[in-house]
Amino acid sequence: MAKMKPIPSEEAERHRAALVREVERDAADTASWTGRRTFSAAVMDAIARVPRHVYIPHEPSLAVAYANRPQPIGGGQTISQPYIVALMTDLLNLPPDARVLEVGTGSGYQCAVLAELAAHVFSVERLPNLAAAALAVLKEQGYANIDVLCADGAKGWSEHAPYDAIMVTAAAEGGVPGALIEQLAPGGRMVIPLGPRFGPQMLTLGVKDANGRFSSTPVLPVAFVPLVTRPE
Ligand code: SAH
Repeated sequence: MAKMKPIPSEEAERHRAALVREVERDAADTASWTGRRTFSAAVMDAIARVPRHVYIPHEPSLAVAYANRPQPIGGGQTISQPYIVALMTDLLNLPPDARVLEVGTGSGYQCAVLAELAAHVFSVERLPNLAAAALAVLKEQGYANIDVLCADGAKGWSEHAPYDAIMVTAAAEGGVPGALIEQLAPGGRMVIPLGPRFGPQMLTLGVKDANGRFSSTPVLPVAFVPLVTRPE
């Protein structure tokens, strides 16, 4: 784990502490769906530490930056709701030595939360402007354990595979992309929203057993921007 240590303003810290309490309430409220009444201390600590406001390009007020809501980040994309970031991170059960693939870098916020918990995060974003902006802020925040690639993440990032965990932050319409299943290590876990653009989507947890067999279970209805895949 490579920790960033900017000195956060007390005001931002206060907003994050309130956000942590909201995420805790949401976790309890959705336990019948997710099977998790609380999230791990490590995940909640990361939410309390990572300065979400620096990842939002339109520089909203701290009240807006730390509202438990999604926000626009340009290019028609969104930074996910913090509760969803916490849930998806928690579902991966990351050990400290985990190597993680994220598909959909977006603002870089989720990537930072993952990098607080895992050994290394490889993140793929298809939009060049977002990839460049996220990389710049992640470097500025001092992360040395993150790599960002501008490419179609539905194909994974084969160079660094296999991954102990894969997180997809855009909704896949045609089921779990085969390349991602291939690039998941035996014993690995994947979280991915499945479903059509503007249609019903289900956050899904996939696991690959020791024999390489992949199976998935529905977790929670969600609304994500689409995973856009270009033909070859
Ligand atoms: N994890 C991000 C969420 C961003 S929204 C955050 O914390 O801010 C989803 C992102 O997925 C968008 O930036 C979108 O451009 C990206 N995306 C969509 N399809 C993609 C694909 N095939 N490969 C890589 N990124 C993709």
